[in-house]
Amino acid sequence: MKSKSCYVCGQENLSRNEIGLNKKLINRKIKLFYCINCLADYLEIEVEFLLENIEEFKEQGCILF
Ligand SMILES: [Zn+2]
Repeated sequence: MKSKSCYVCGQENLSRNEIGLNKKLINRKIKLFYCINCLADYLEIEVEFLLENIEEFKEQGCILF
């Protein structure tokens, strides 16, 4: 699979967690991805909150993470 880069700042090689968050919080079919910092900006929430979300989604057994 081709690596994804951030649509806003251009950061390359987004992690599986970052891509999972984009799909989970925006849309599973999105083609443009945000890195965790730009995603927090876009959603107007704290990066720490997103990191907590990742852990929660993992605990729930979400297939995206
Ligand atoms: Zn970015």
